[in-house]
Amino acid sequence: MNYSESKEKSAEILRAVIGQMARHDASFNPVTFAVWYEHLAGINPGLSEALNGAIARLGRLGDDSMRQLFDAHVAPPEHQVMNQVAERFQKTMTGMSDSATRTGQDAGKFGEQLSRLAQALESPDVDTLSPHIVQARENASEMRQSAQALERQVAQSRQEIAALQAELGRVRQEALLCPLTRVLNRRGFDQTLQAILDGGTEADKTHCLVMLDIDHFKKVNDTHGHVMGDRVIQAMGEVMRACVTGQNGTSLARYGGEEFAVLLPDTPIHVAESVAENIRQKVKALKMRNRQTQEVVLTFTVSAGVTRVAQGDKPDTLIARADSALYQSKQNGRDRVTCV
Ligand code: GH3
Ligand code: MG
Ligand code: MG
Repeated sequence: MNYSESKEKSAEILRAVIGQMARHDASFNPVTFAVWYEHLAGINPGLSEALNGAIARLGRLGDDSMRQLFDAHVAPPEHQVMNQVAERFQKTMTGMSDSATRTGQDAGKFGEQLSRLAQALESPDVDTLSPHIVQARENASEMRQSAQALERQVAQSRQEIAALQAELGRVRQEALLCPLTRVLNRRGFDQTLQAILDGGTEADKTHCLVMLDIDHFKKVNDTHGHVMGDRVIQAMGEVMRACVTGQNGTSLARYGGEEFAVLLPDTPIHVAESVAENIRQKVKALKMRNRQTQEVVLTFTVSAGVTRVAQGDKPDTLIARADSALYQSKQNGRDRVTCV
């Protein structure tokens, strides 16, 4: 969840949150705080509905209710999916272990039966053998069924575990993406950049980084509201995607708020510069429309800084250089690309 309330607005919400926390039984911890904050800020309608329902049912809310509301409506989706995956792993394992225990018990019974049959075989009285043989045959059939059931359970568990592994892989990937734009988030960017730097460069090759920042974005929010602000961020992601199709190995990222990055491994700087220039032009040409009337409500521009990986660069030295190029673009009037 992005919190975009101003300091004044959030101070007002904070006072209301403290009032509500005092009226209920839950502890004054960050979980409780986040639940009340999102409810009172009016930014999480699903949570508000569930919270009002819980108050109507229970009157005063305690730690358990707060934790449930937090998990269901506040925690990031990957956190919930991870919990579900862990729960299913546990169920699969318990199922397999129950089956193995049952088969083990059957095997134990069968073993006892066999040793009684062995004793009877030593006895000279042949008549005593017959009931043991009948019993052993019955037990052998039970044992076979039990082993088959275990085999089926193992096969099913194996399938379930493979599905869970695939799910985990998907969640892990998802955790590296920005949900609004579907480009890498900051974590994904950091990992990708580190991998590129760790990979080194071939003698005549270079890796490049472009940093982009939407111009006067605060004004977009202030004039058109946060929903339009978010649409602009989404549109920025789409333009970037369109401008790098065909550039092998290029990664796009939302570095933070309205700042984006393009990582171009094994790319000459003039190519990185032309990618940045292409994004700048496409962004400038973009018309944001009112969804109902189709009337153009705003256009926006972006500034960029381009640099290439130098000998001995660490992520922060590289980013600082791209940032200083971006800063020059802002200083020189925005809506431009600067290469350093
Ligand atoms: P400049 O041209 O110098 O970059 O000015 P700016 O207004 O773009 O930069 P500034 O850093 O002053 O403001 C950025 C604003 O972006 C402030 C913040 O509220 C807003 N913002 C950050 N993330 C989001 C988001 O996810 N959605 C929306 N709607 N706004 C966001
Ligand atoms: Mg900006
Ligand atoms: Mg910025």
